[in-house]
Amino acid sequence: MAELIKTDVAIVGAGIIGLAIAFRLAGDGREVVVVDPNEPGSGASYGNAGTLAPYACAPVGNPDVLRNLPSLLVDPDSPFAMRLAALPALIPWLSRFLWQALPVHARRNAYALADLLKDAMPAWRELAEEARLSDLLRFEGCLYLYRGRMPRDDGEWGARLRSELGVRQERLTPEEVARMEPALPPAAGGIFFPDAAHTVDPAALTSRLAAAAAARGALFERARADRLEPQDGAMFRLVCGDRTIDARTVVLAAGAWSRPLAEQAGENIPLDTERGYHIEFAMDACPIKRPVSPIDLGFYVTPMAGRLRVAGTVELGGLEAPLNPNRIALLERGVRKLFPDLGPVQSKWLGFRPSLPDSLPVIGPSRGYPNLIHAFGHGHLGMTLAGVTSRIVAGLVERRNVPPNLDAFRPDRFA
Ligand SMILES: Cc1cc2nc3c(=O)[nH]c(=O)nc-3n(C[C@H](O)[C@H](O)[C@H](O)COP(=O)(O)OP(=O)(O)OC[C@H]3O[C@@H](n4cnc5c(N)ncnc54)[C@H](O)[C@@H]3O)c2cc1C
Repeated sequence: MAELIKTDVAIVGAGIIGLAIAFRLAGDGREVVVVDPNEPGSGASYGNAGTLAPYACAPVGNPDVLRNLPSLLVDPDSPFAMRLAALPALIPWLSRFLWQALPVHARRNAYALADLLKDAMPAWRELAEEARLSDLLRFEGCLYLYRGRMPRDDGEWGARLRSELGVRQERLTPEEVARMEPALPPAAGGIFFPDAAHTVDPAALTSRLAAAAAARGALFERARADRLEPQDGAMFRLVCGDRTIDARTVVLAAGAWSRPLAEQAGENIPLDTERGYHIEFAMDACPIKRPVSPIDLGFYVTPMAGRLRVAGTVELGGLEAPLNPNRIALLERGVRKLFPDLGPVQSKWLGFRPSLPDSLPVIGPSRGYPNLIHAFGHGHLGMTLAGVTSRIVAGLVERRNVPPNLDAFRPDRFA
């Protein structure tokens, strides 16, 4: 007979978003069950660049990207790529993405993102303290590196926008870059974001957050949520293979895999994936102190525990295609321009960012079912936004301290 579990809250997905929500709700005294067929933290949350990037308010779709799109698509060394076989399936998402990249939309999206980002670091500090994760975080800022030419103060759409939104950013001369990160080759300049931080181990962060949620009483079920069935209005049923979970509230936090489940609740949300890659080099002491992003190469180099991780780039191409060795080779060529003496690549990884065309997550109740709460689609910023998302979702579940305006993140904003 099928096993039946009853709980206050069922959370679908044990990535950084689902785990942060589970930890907070369990702390509020809720009965919480987290459902995931895989090890907690083994999705996109496993292999990212590890930056907590409160400065990153420029959406991916923006006027600079729009202007450079032809060269970004044609240049084999571009950080942006598309699998041609996936093009027909991608057209609806891409057309929305291009529309959202127009100045008026991109500006609106940036303001909405900045509104979330302003609380990202305080929320992370609180989460890290409560879950005892602070030893995995470093508050050293983050550096954009300009190798060839330093843009004018107002030369880039993103930089102008950050100034307008009051993001703290410091322009650095070549000498200042060299003083800050002496192991880097000579550069044309840099932009330093002093409020940024990074984790030295995203996998340890998620597994310890899962343990901290479990210590507060959250239960973890190794199962895939196959079906979402609304019951009598007050309950939701999750069918997970031979297990059935009845919950007063379901939180959908299955990252890039959330779309089909949202569809079962009647929601057509244009969620797709921006595939991203990492490679790692084993080393005892990293040559840099903080994440560095060489802007022309489109990735981050992050110092992590026992290794240097090179992570980033965007490949549009869906959830099924295997790792593309050309993208790995691109990362390797790129990082060897900064550090020619690196040893062999130790590990390679492909991950799936959950991405909406406007670079904004979906956070809020489903249109038809107030007890189904969406929390997915954090794109390039899921690590950064985990703390603040968990605060908002806990507020929605407990019906307290809910920010007055979540309109920009509504599940039905594309309807
Ligand atoms: C290369 C790269 C670099 C990045 N760098 C950064 C960075 O520096 N800073 C930053 O803030 N963000 C970064 N990101 C983005 C960040 O990693 C993601 O936004 C974030 O991990 C998303 O978290 P999540 O919990 O929504 O999804 P995930 O971590 O993908 O978790 C989703 C979980 O849902 C589970 N699941 C799927 N289907 C089901 C189902 N039917 N039932 C139950 N469970 C299911 C999966 O098994 C998975 O465990 C980067 C991403 C990539 C790929």
